Amino acid sequence: MARRHLIIGGGTAGMNAIRTIREEEAERSEIMLVSAEKPYSRMVLPYYLDRSISESHVFTATAAVLAEWGAKTHLGRRATNLDTKASVCTLDDGTRLEYDDCLIATGSSAVKAPVPGAELPGVHSFWTLDQCRALIADVKPGGHVVMVGAGFISFTILNSILSLGAKLTIVEIAPRILPRMIDDTGASLVEDWLTRHGVTIRTDARLNKIEDAKGKKRLKFAKGGDLTCDAVIMATGIRTNLEWLKGSGIRVNQGVVVDDHLRSNVANVYAAGDVAEGPDRLSKSGVVHAIEPTAQEHGRVVGANMAGRGVGYAGSLVMNIVEVCHLDVASFGAWDDGKAEATVGVKRDRHAYRKLLWTDDRLSGAIILGPSSDIWTTNDVGMLKGLVQSQVPLARFKAYLKTNPFDIKPAFIAVKTAGRLLPETVLGRPAKAPGETPVAV
Ligand SMILES: Cc1cc2nc3c(=O)[nH]c(=O)nc-3n(C[C@H](O)[C@H](O)[C@H](O)COP(=O)(O)OP(=O)(O)OC[C@H]3O[C@@H](n4cnc5c(N)ncnc54)[C@H](O)[C@@H]3O)c2cc1C
Repeated sequence: MARRHLIIGGGTAGMNAIRTIREEEAERSEIMLVSAEKPYSRMVLPYYLDRSISESHVFTATAAVLAEWGAKTHLGRRATNLDTKASVCTLDDGTRLEYDDCLIATGSSAVKAPVPGAELPGVHSFWTLDQCRALIADVKPGGHVVMVGAGFISFTILNSILSLGAKLTIVEIAPRILPRMIDDTGASLVEDWLTRHGVTIRTDARLNKIEDAKGKKRLKFAKGGDLTCDAVIMATGIRTNLEWLKGSGIRVNQGVVVDDHLRSNVANVYAAGDVAEGPDRLSKSGVVHAIEPTAQEHGRVVGANMAGRGVGYAGSLVMNIVEVCHLDVASFGAWDDGKAEATVGVKRDRHAYRKLLWTDDRLSGAIILGPSSDIWTTNDVGMLKGLVQSQVPLARFKAYLKTNPFDIKPAFIAVKTAGRLLPETVLGRPAKAPGETPVAV
């Protein structure tokens, strides 16, 4: 039984692992936490940006909670080397930590488009708390913000920028917005909606250069006019934090390759969250799903395994759900499977859209969008997710949904989707309520 657990990375995956070790272990073990940043949730940063929450609310575990967990912390320190033969991790200050087992949960980092001027002050990424603080200082009411990249992360920040009273322009190199989340039809509806809500969108826009222009920033493009603004946000992608593992012998592909127990090719080293290439729930193949639910589930499964319980993982469901200017936009599973049989419903006047992707009589993917004020939009987001997640056969309700793609509820209820999902738990037991465990993360 491993007595000394080393957790590298204090984000969602790392924190869930620590909590679960403490919940599952028979005897109290030693837990060491190394994290370049204090534990906080990146997902809530947009709410800090627009001042809906104070900075103290972004943190997931305070010093007091970590002390209650009995974790020996090395915060503000980076792991720089992993010697998997000797089971020793070296930190950037030379500290050497010996472990019996270890979790790699180092997440991912934002990547800026490689154009001249990308590193100028006033050209921001939005991935870390420090980057959020820097942007807060630069977004002013009446100012102009340009977001480069119209992907999921841009869309999580969009409402915050508008609510701060800034004018917003989004530029995207692809011919349409949200290219990795929804299809052409969905993108055209969202674009129209945002334009009506005062957001300027420019697609097919290849950024060539950013330069200083009398206290402002000027963006130059391969074609079309320049844009001048007060702040630039580069939401142009992320990469997994793997470089420090060079020479460790850990097998990496897009992320750290792990099995269905989230164990790497080295038996006492696990990986979880954005940095892990774990099983996909539907295809069972290895994927990097850089989303919060995957990080949370991975962390819990690894925590149980580190505590010696031997828990297998059913795999993560890819999902993206975002609300922009009161329009819900979501996709689940294999929403972009060009070979799947598809059912489509569009109500352009209401900015409402459903796309159902079929594998036989099961839903293998879905896209949904519509105004949040329509009760059936919000309900259907949850029900479509449930149908894809449960893989419940829809039998004769397939024919019904093919002619009524906006009426999800009868099928959802008739095939007893909730009944299938409710007994499912990540760890094979009910979650513990706050109070039974030091903190809910
Ligand atoms: C603005 C924003 C909004 C988002 N919104 C959503 C959303 O709505 N829904 C959703 O599902 N997902 C969302 N995400 C994504 C989600 O936040 C990530 O998937 C999640 O944080 C991944 O958790 P993690 O623990 O794997 O990695 P992280 O949270 O990135 O944590 C990694 C930790 O490792 C530390 N670290 C890195 N390298 C080292 C090193 N060498 N040594 C020591 N420590 C290291 C980092 O400092 C950090 O503490 C959002 C992300 C952002 C930035």
